[in-house]
Amino acid sequence: MHLDTITKLLDIPNYRAVEVTGREYDFFGVTLERVKDIPPVCSGCGRIHGASVHSRGTMIAEDLQISGKRVLLLVPKRKVKCSEDGTIRVEALQWLNGRFTDRFTEQVYRLTSITTNQEAGWFLKLDDETVYRIDKRKLEELALEKLDPVPVPKHMSVDEVAWQKWHKYVTNVVDVDQRKVIWNDQGRGKVNLDKFFRSLGKENCEKIEAVACDGARGYLSSIKQYATNALIVLDHFHVKKYLNDAVDTVRKEELKKARQQNNGELSSILHCNKRFILMQNKVTTKKQDLLEKLASLNERVYQAMLLKEQFVSIYTDPRTARGALNEWIIAAIKSKIPAFVELGYKFFRKRSYLLNYFLCKITTAISEGINNKIKRLSRMAYGYKDVHYFLLKIHQHCGLLNPKLST
Ligand SMILES: [Zn+2]
Repeated sequence: MHLDTITKLLDIPNYRAVEVTGREYDFFGVTLERVKDIPPVCSGCGRIHGASVHSRGTMIAEDLQISGKRVLLLVPKRKVKCSEDGTIRVEALQWLNGRFTDRFTEQVYRLTSITTNQEAGWFLKLDDETVYRIDKRKLEELALEKLDPVPVPKHMSVDEVAWQKWHKYVTNVVDVDQRKVIWNDQGRGKVNLDKFFRSLGKENCEKIEAVACDGARGYLSSIKQYATNALIVLDHFHVKKYLNDAVDTVRKEELKKARQQNNGELSSILHCNKRFILMQNKVTTKKQDLLEKLASLNERVYQAMLLKEQFVSIYTDPRTARGALNEWIIAAIKSKIPAFVELGYKFFRKRSYLLNYFLCKITTAISEGINNKIKRLSRMAYGYKDVHYFLLKIHQHCGLLNPKLST
C-alpha cells in the first residue's frame, strides 16, 4: 500500500505514515511523523509552554486492526518542562489514550458493553489484564461525564445484589420508566439509600412518585425520611422471590426427610434438578404431572406449591385483592409450615405496600431483567474482586454508561 493511502486511512491530524513494517507478520508496524512542527501541549496543565522541547522519543500505541491484522503505531513523542511545577512531562495527544488510540479504547468499550471481557479480549487478541485496564479507564472517564448529576426518577426501584461471597453487596437504584440503573454503591441498607437521596437533594426527592423495594426495614425508613411523597410498593418481583424461597425451604426439608427414609421416588422429585420446574410460574404439563405426583406423595410440598399458586390469583382483580390477601395470610399461618407461617406474618406487616401495587403498577419485568444481567456480571465479578469496577460495569451493562442505552 502506498504511504499516502495509509496516511489517509489512519486519518490522524498532523501525522503521516513514513514507513510500514511487519507485513509478513501478524501485525503492521506504522512509523508516524508530524507533518507540521506544532509546539507540544503539556500533559500536566494542558498548556503550551514557550520553553524548548526537553527531549524526544518514540512510543508504541495500538490502533484499530487493518485487514484483520493488529496495527502498532510508532509515534514520535516529546517531553516538556512544565512551568507550573517544573516537572518533565510527556506531551498530550488528544487522539491517544495511554498506549492505545482513542478509537481503539472506544472499540474495546463497545465490545465489553455487549459481551464479557474475556470474549472481547479473545476477539481483539488482548489479554484479560489489558482489557480490564482499558475498560476501567474508559468507564472512569465516562462516569465523570455521565453519572453526575444523578437523574431524578419519577418511579424508581431499589435492590441489592451480592458481588462476593460472605455477604458483600452492592445497592442499585433503577429508574423504572427509563429502564436503567441510575445509581449504585457498595453496601446495602439505609446508609446507602440515604446517600442516594442526599445526592438528589430535598426538592428532587419530593418529586419521586413511587419506590419499589423488597420491603426491608432499612430501605423503608430511608424512603419515608427522604422521598416523602412517594408511594412504597412491595413489587411482584420481590413477592415472587419470597414465595419461591419459601417453597424451596420446604422442598429442602422434605428432601432431607425423604433421603433419611430411603424414599427414592420422592427424593427424585424433590431433587434440585426438578427445582426449576417447581419454580416456574407458567403451568406446563411437566409441572402438572409433578404436582399430581407430589399431591399423592408429599402433602407439605404440595401444600406449599398451592399456596404459592394461590398468591398469584390475588393480583387478578384489584377489587377483591384486599380480601384475597387477608385470606391468603390466614391460610399461610394455618398451614403450620414454618416458612409460610413466617411469610404470612411478613405479608401481614407489609400488606399496605403489597396493595400499593394496584395504585402504581411498577412492572416486574424491568427489575427482573436488570437483576439477571447484574447477577451474570456478579458471577464474573468473583474473578476481578474490584468492587468499583463492578459498580462501573453495572452502569455499562444496565445503565447510563451503556453505548446503546444512552443514545
Ligand atoms: Zn504544564
